[in-house]
Amino acid sequence: MSRIVQKYGGTSMGDVGRIKKVAERIKLAIDQGSEVVAVVSARAGVTNELIARSREITRNPSEREMDMLLSVGEQETIALTALALHELGVEAVSFTGAQAGIQTDAIHTKAKIQTINAEVVEAQLQTGKVVIVAGFQGVNEHGHITTFGRGGSDLSAVAIASAVKADRCEIYTDVDGVYTADPRVVAKAQKIDEISYDEMLELASSGSKVMQSRSVEFAHKHNVVFEVRSSFNFNRGTIVKEEVPQMEKVVVRGIAVDKDQAKVIVSNILDKPGSAARVFQALADASIVVDMIVQNEGRNGIANLTFTVPQGDTMRAQKALEPVLDELGGGHVAVHENVAKLSVVGVGMKTHSGVAADLFTALARAEVNIDLITTSEIKISVVVDQDKVDEAARVVHTAFGLDAS
Ligand code: ASP
Ligand code: MG
Repeated sequence: MSRIVQKYGGTSMGDVGRIKKVAERIKLAIDQGSEVVAVVSARAGVTNELIARSREITRNPSEREMDMLLSVGEQETIALTALALHELGVEAVSFTGAQAGIQTDAIHTKAKIQTINAEVVEAQLQTGKVVIVAGFQGVNEHGHITTFGRGGSDLSAVAIASAVKADRCEIYTDVDGVYTADPRVVAKAQKIDEISYDEMLELASSGSKVMQSRSVEFAHKHNVVFEVRSSFNFNRGTIVKEEVPQMEKVVVRGIAVDKDQAKVIVSNILDKPGSAARVFQALADASIVVDMIVQNEGRNGIANLTFTVPQGDTMRAQKALEPVLDELGGGHVAVHENVAKLSVVGVGMKTHSGVAADLFTALARAEVNIDLITTSEIKISVVVDQDKVDEAARVVHTAFGLDAS
């Protein structure tokens, strides 16, 4: 008998009609003789609504209470899914994260899973029931509800798949899988059949919104092979797994665009040991995540630093840097929000040369100016004008031979 963990995202849970469809889909797997654990998200929009409601009361909420509040969305859908299965004559039982034995650290709103005691789920599977588990939530050692950060139901799914030693882990969403680029932007984008964890991770952290990065990291670490597929049809999705030599034949697996980027330029600071440390410590202390960093060669004892941050953090970044500038001999901070990051990702870059040259040539032909560049072993990212990034993505997609015929 095969054991499947299925995760259904917010749009798959969108309304009662969708939930009934999900129940039918689960029943199908049961009828084929599988055991099923279903991990579900809140209905699309519910988590946002709950956040909005808290904002009407406070701008500075207790994180413990936010976890209590946000975990509600998934509690609605687990129960409704169980009821829908009962109506189909399928035995099913729903569990909160805590009841399913998902133990986390104490960091509210972005808790990490520490252990999963799968005994309760296991016992229910043994009696032939479908087990429905609330995604995105767990419990800390003091019994307080914790959540895993936005999109955290993916993490619940891969962690449970690992804990119950599932044969398959299926992540159901509203798209057919992982694409070579966002099909809404690049009409010729194609579904990818197989992708390595590293590529998936780079795409996820570069702005492709298919899955939460942390869940991909977890899956990699615990070797959970999973498939991203649509709950709206029966097409095969994208298998995410450990890299195999075959995968290196493709130079660029996919392209990601991230428009939630702003460029910060710190100019005219002293070019001396410790300057950069001071700047980035101030940003770290303000919990600002910095992405690309470029430092120009200092001249006459003066240096310039340029980096990118999420757009929502620009005000805080400026505030955090003000006191530092005085210490670094004056200087100036400028923010540019009309930028976007385009990344090309592929394990094939490890063995192919000239990828950067091909990328820059394609951009030059399209007359897209490159602002910042960073590279890693399997990724090249450039910052360009936000107005040009969609066109850039199409041109680069074609240049690397990714277009569907
Ligand atoms: N409901 C949560 C969110 O909207 C978790 C999830 O959907 O994965 O972020
Ligand atoms: Mg979601």
